[in-house]
Amino acid sequence: MRLSFGKIFGIRVDIHWTFALLIIWIVYRNLSEGLDAVHIGWSVAFILSLFVCVTLHEFGHALTARRYGIQTKDITLYPIGGVASLEKMPEKPIQELWVALAGPAVNVVIMLLLSPFILSADFLQKETAEAFVIDGSNFLPMLGIINIWLALFNLIPAFPMDGGRVLRALLSLRMHRVKATQAAATIGKILAVGFIITGFYINPFLIFIGLFIILGAHTEAEMVKAQSTISGFTLRDALMKNYQTIEKSAPIAEAVKLLLNGEAKNFLVTHNNQPYGVIGRDQIIKGITSVGETAAVESIADTQLIVMDIDVPVNDVFTEFQKSRTPLILVREGARLAGVIDLENVTELIMINTARGKLS
Ligand SMILES: [Zn+2]
Repeated sequence: MRLSFGKIFGIRVDIHWTFALLIIWIVYRNLSEGLDAVHIGWSVAFILSLFVCVTLHEFGHALTARRYGIQTKDITLYPIGGVASLEKMPEKPIQELWVALAGPAVNVVIMLLLSPFILSADFLQKETAEAFVIDGSNFLPMLGIINIWLALFNLIPAFPMDGGRVLRALLSLRMHRVKATQAAATIGKILAVGFIITGFYINPFLIFIGLFIILGAHTEAEMVKAQSTISGFTLRDALMKNYQTIEKSAPIAEAVKLLLNGEAKNFLVTHNNQPYGVIGRDQIIKGITSVGETAAVESIADTQLIVMDIDVPVNDVFTEFQKSRTPLILVREGARLAGVIDLENVTELIMINTARGKLS
């Protein structure tokens, strides 16, 4: 569940519902520390301002990526930080480097803008312990300081942090992207072990960061490996020539039957033997409750047909599935419909090629 802020620079900004828990937790902690309503107000305003900075950080990534022709679906704010869903990361090392650096760079700029407040003698003279209670006197300097931390934290050279991407991009200048990713993931894992060990002595939070890095490093390495197994393949290699179609006037009950009877989970919807739309398992299941099984397939079909050429690399279709969330993509050869492809085909191709790779 998300609350949407609408679009900024053409990118949707959402807040995840768990964000409310963060605010409740801040209020609860401040209450238990005996702070009054004014101070609680300052704390909440501080957290909200912090997340404005996090959002600007994500826009740093998104708008830099746009310069390289890569769009961003949305920016979502979670209590632990923001995520900009870029269609993909640029594969050119120098472009990935700039996109990754742009986020932390925003925090450095904010910090510089607030630096007069940080350097103000008034703030520096205060006791450190006292500075932790946010109020009008330390709001801006603390916001500046936290932006330094945001920049430094994100530059830790480990996935899923921006620093991991910076490291991979730098390594990619010298070696193959898959090798560079593996090397960056290994460096990240070594760092993570360091964090976990230090965490036992200093702060349990470091253990949490360590585990987060290990998971991130693993996911990134696996994804790049998967993509590399299908590089060089085109849709010709993964295409389904035998696929199920359903007429748009047919009842949803018939789609249910197709779903239960065969292997296919995604179907091409036709009208007068011409492609009209696509439906997938999820839409059929949703359709049963929303419009009922007697309604026509037409009412639940996705009519935004995506057609791709048979010579397009499979990697592109992989990106397209993530971007559009369509169940099925049509593949054409010249003017003729050569077949269809779904995400399962791509996954199968990855599995087959991984197995072949292990053999050789
Ligand atoms: Zn970032």
